[in-house]
Amino acid sequence: MRIDQFLAQQTGISRREGKELLRKGRVFVNHKPVCLAKTQIVPESDLVEVNGKQVEYQKYRYFMLHKPKGVISATEGKDYPTVLSLMPPERFRKGLFPVGRLDVDTTGLLLLTDDGAFAHRIISPKHRCKKTYLATLERSVSEEELMPLRNGVILADGTECLPVEVSIIHDGANPVIRIVLCEGKYHQVKRMVAAISHRVVDLHRLQIGSLVLPEDLKEGECRELSILEKEQLFG
Ligand code: URA
Repeated sequence: MRIDQFLAQQTGISRREGKELLRKGRVFVNHKPVCLAKTQIVPESDLVEVNGKQVEYQKYRYFMLHKPKGVISATEGKDYPTVLSLMPPERFRKGLFPVGRLDVDTTGLLLLTDDGAFAHRIISPKHRCKKTYLATLERSVSEEELMPLRNGVILADGTECLPVEVSIIHDGANPVIRIVLCEGKYHQVKRMVAAISHRVVDLHRLQIGSLVLPEDLKEGECRELSILEKEQLFG
């Protein structure tokens, strides 16, 4: 890999800024100064230092975001800002994408990565990775009404859904139900709830696998996953 490409990918600086650092003699590879942008390095084994500090090589990046309403789970969009626009510029890296989709009006836990195989393990129904949502409904719901969801409901267009775990968390005029899916069809929670003649007025994703959205991660905030958190995703 070229050194300017390595610097841009690992530190988030532009290629132009990287070239400037190289030109000024601030970049060292294996303790020797390097000034040519086209210098080839082996990221896994070469020691790269910028301004005297080692640049750690990470092949892929993994982030969690507390998605607010009004942003779309996409890498580009016309009508709304994207989830990528919420990333602090120093964390941004080319190739990042959201793992699956939350609707524009859904809040909660969303992962971002540049690791396609990792994303596939989370999204693909084959891997049965559970996603837990809290859905606020328009009106009171009974246990009996939720039964079709537990047995595998058929949506208005004939799409069959797998049985889900569902429970009433908070009863009343605007009840909150907890629903756990291991597939991710388009607008699935809203359409499943519509299939039992109810309506979702608010939707929040609380958990993916065993990873719960941390209480101290505020709406719009994003941070890198720890190794433990990454493991919890598949637990
Ligand atoms: N199901 C929905 O209906 N919307 C979401 O954003 C996620 C799951």
